Amino acid sequence: PQTRIASISALLKEVILLTESEVLMKGCQIDLQSLANDLYVSVDVKQMKQVLINMIRNALEAVSDRLDGSTGRIELGARKEGSEVRILISDNGKGMDACTMNRLFNQFFTTKENGTGLGLSVSDRIVKNHGGRISVTSRVNEGTSFVISLPLITGFT
Ligand code: ADP
Ligand code: MG
Repeated sequence: PQTRIASISALLKEVILLTESEVLMKGCQIDLQSLANDLYVSVDVKQMKQVLINMIRNALEAVSDRLDGSTGRIELGARKEGSEVRILISDNGKGMDACTMNRLFNQFFTTKENGTGLGLSVSDRIVKNHGGRISVTSRVNEGTSFVISLPLITGFT
């Protein structure tokens, strides 16, 4: 792994650029909450981008499957919580039931016809390797929020 100090806002802006065309093609909207102070983490940038892009793609698929046809919205944000940064990826997609929630991180678990069920299991491993964790909250037909917690680099703000 190629670990280096990375800015959270640079990371989020970059994954927004990398997914822009997919977001536009789906007629969705992606918003970045403004960060009061930038935050820094020590990460393998390539791996962490992969995690974020996977979550944005899942969010895009979830908003496409929403029943009422309202505009798909994805929100990205980050905030400091003690010695950690919490990165938020939330969507107003179809959400998921408890049964899905419990199996989310299992390798090969998918509810999609052409899904691999690898995105979240790989993401979970990457984040754990960085000393962090992923949590999720969701409501059926309202939306889903993923939070990635990572240790902050301190004395670097
Ligand atoms: P895949 O995308 O190939 O199905 P993932 O590991 O990325 O595999 O996701 C596993 C499952 O978790 C998905 O099939 C879906 O049921 C659920 N899921 C993941 N992200 C979301 C989301 N943002 N909204 C609703 N369901 C989700
Ligand atoms: Mg996926």
